[in-house]
Amino acid sequence: MKYDAIVVGARVAGSPTAMLLARKGYRVLVVDRATFPSDTLSTHIIHAPGVAALRRWGLLDRMTATGCPPIERYSFDFGPFVISGTTSPVDGIDVGYAPRRTVLDKLLVDAARESGAEVREGCNVDEVIVDNQRVRGIRCNGHEYLADLVIGADGRNSRVAKTVGAEDYNTMPKLEYGYYTYFSGLPVSGIENYARPDRGFGVAPTNHGLTMVVVGWPYAEARAYKSDVAGNFYRTIAQVPSFAARLGRATQEAPFVGGAVAGWFRKPYGDGYALVGDAAYNKDPITAQGITDAFHDAERCNRAVDDWLQGRAPFEDAMSAWHRERDARAMPMYEFTSQLATLEPPPPQMQQLLGAVSADQRSMDGFVSVMSGALSPADFFAEENLGRVFAAARQPA
Ligand SMILES: Cc1cc2nc3c(=O)[nH]c(=O)nc-3n(C[C@H](O)[C@H](O)[C@H](O)COP(=O)(O)OP(=O)(O)OC[C@H]3O[C@@H](n4cnc5c(N)ncnc54)[C@H](O)[C@@H]3O)c2cc1C
Repeated sequence: MKYDAIVVGARVAGSPTAMLLARKGYRVLVVDRATFPSDTLSTHIIHAPGVAALRRWGLLDRMTATGCPPIERYSFDFGPFVISGTTSPVDGIDVGYAPRRTVLDKLLVDAARESGAEVREGCNVDEVIVDNQRVRGIRCNGHEYLADLVIGADGRNSRVAKTVGAEDYNTMPKLEYGYYTYFSGLPVSGIENYARPDRGFGVAPTNHGLTMVVVGWPYAEARAYKSDVAGNFYRTIAQVPSFAARLGRATQEAPFVGGAVAGWFRKPYGDGYALVGDAAYNKDPITAQGITDAFHDAERCNRAVDDWLQGRAPFEDAMSAWHRERDARAMPMYEFTSQLATLEPPPPQMQQLLGAVSADQRSMDGFVSVMSGALSPADFFAEENLGRVFAAARQPA
């Protein structure tokens, strides 16, 4: 049995990739060792560009029907000042959501199946078949499946990437260690972030009336953090007494879950294979870009594969165009994310800039748009815009 494409991994990168190819009429198999609904180590903020993708795919109504509240406002409390605003719209969408991965991933798997992809859950790929230096298929639960293209959407520890020896570039070490959990009875105003020297925490409303709270420490202190997770979690929050008081009235509803992530890029294609999502590009979660990036990959990989399979472009041309576009789009955010993830206090010049941003609503909305991925950090931190930010801050209120 031969498929046009086999996708390994059925979460936020894999299911949309399979769904979009199946909607074009390709014969697609998507496999995952998990069975859905299934949770994974991930908080789950989807910014406006990701929400816009869900709408393009006709899945936004389904997601909102799960009761997950929209996120209209972002705030960043740096201690001496607070930046608070709204994101500029992306394709008319100016809100984010933070659906539980049990909810989101299941919805995406179902959509892939409804679109005509063959979905096999509980199916562990124990071998990626390579013949004559070309990936030909997979071996899974004792069966062999062959395809023109095998797409690794199998996450940070991608077997597909390991098999083909995909090399990392622009690497970053683990920078931050975060623990998160869920509370009931904790009203929040959209996404709230609190930055204190060498510490940070953020909150977002999610499904089932719960609020997700994540607390990050520098990775160098991970061992100390782990030695008393609850104590360190609550002591960090106590640095912001107004929020600690709110949390004091709430109930913790789940155990702590924690982790850290290194950063890398990988060339997302080669003979007989492609890589999407974390398998190809990974970064610290502090700016919550992974799901949105996975959605970008799904759309862009789909277009490249379609160009190739329809004979509009040779494989190398179609895939290398996607590769270049991904890196150009992702790099400024990757660098910005890696800086933030150190949790170091911003250097004096940056403090001055952030202070100026906090003095003007348009500047604050610009900063929020950077965080949401609606505006590239390269554009926001461009000299001309910074001139405008400082000029606006000097205007009398
Ligand atoms: C602590 C933390 C917090 C985060 N918070 C956010 C956030 O708020 N917002 C955001 O956008 N991103 C966040 N991220 C990043 C986000 O989780 C990832 O970018 C995203 O999950 C990547 O999706 P993926 O589909 O590429 O991979 P994954 O979600 O890792 O899915 C890979 C799938 O492949 C399957 N698989 C792997 N190997 C095999 C195999 N051999 N056979 C069969 N199946 C296999 C796995 O079972 C899994 O289901 C966070 C990450 C972490 C670690």
